[in-house]
Amino acid sequence: MPTNCFTAPGKFYRGNLHTHSTRSDGQLEPREVCRRYQAEGYDFIALTDHFVGLFDYPITDTAAFRNEHFTTILGAELHTGAMENGHLWHLLAFGLPVDFPPPDAPNFRPVKGSESAADIAHRARDAGAFVAIAHPHWSGLTEADARSITAAHAVEVYNHGCAVDNDRGEGFLTLEHLLNEGRHLNLIATDDAHFNTPDFFGGWVKVKARENTPEALLEALKAGAFYSSTGPDIHDIRISKTHIEVDCTAATTILVQGHGSPMAALRGEAMTTGRLSLERLANSPWVRITVIDRAGKRAWSNPFWVED
Ligand SMILES: [Zn+2]
Ligand SMILES: [Zn+2]
Repeated sequence: MPTNCFTAPGKFYRGNLHTHSTRSDGQLEPREVCRRYQAEGYDFIALTDHFVGLFDYPITDTAAFRNEHFTTILGAELHTGAMENGHLWHLLAFGLPVDFPPPDAPNFRPVKGSESAADIAHRARDAGAFVAIAHPHWSGLTEADARSITAAHAVEVYNHGCAVDNDRGEGFLTLEHLLNEGRHLNLIATDDAHFNTPDFFGGWVKVKARENTPEALLEALKAGAFYSSTGPDIHDIRISKTHIEVDCTAATTILVQGHGSPMAALRGEAMTTGRLSLERLANSPWVRITVIDRAGKRAWSNPFWVED
């Protein structure tokens, strides 16, 4: 059962978990990426440069850009092996050691016989990382591809760069297929910022942690103590056997989704609280909540699993 971030102790910290710098194919130096995110009001980021030989397998060390109000989680976008469509895998890992051994991934083409994505995901998780399946739609991920990453903690359901650059930014269907197979996965919204298009400040996580340190944030991420957003804030979610109550910033729609098509919806003008019946979702082993504001921006809870 993931930790309910709304009842967990601590404070919410806003972070972007997917970013590139000049250490791979991003436009800005690591220092400038950190400066811009802090100036925009973020509490932390993870620089996730492409972990390929072309860029000398970078795990960009951003420790020098931490300060009293801003921190960084070391990470990378991992690449190895081919998906069913023949293209190279993309996975995200946060909390990697700087000496994480590279796979055989010289560039963005898969190498025959190299380590599988499933294996590197396990290796990253064993090394202490939080692992996420990146941009399923843009990758062209099949259900079998997604199913193979058994070490994943989360699916990237919103990638702002993909949304802006190619309109393939979402991964909810991949997430829900896995939830319906009983996989207890969480979801993340990210930027995948390279700063060569308006691919920044569009998707983030709000992590409930005891302090704004990489260790506390990672622990909270692994516990599922966070939600994701492209705009609205979710202040509280209270779940009983029959109802869900949601407190949030002004919303026009509050939705509860679950297994299959049954759902619950509440619509209004500027709702800051809502109460939804779970009657139609009584048979779903999981439910998740979506909050939409007047501008169409959305926030998403992690799935809540119904205890039996
Ligand atoms: Zn990618
Ligand atoms: Zn990326």
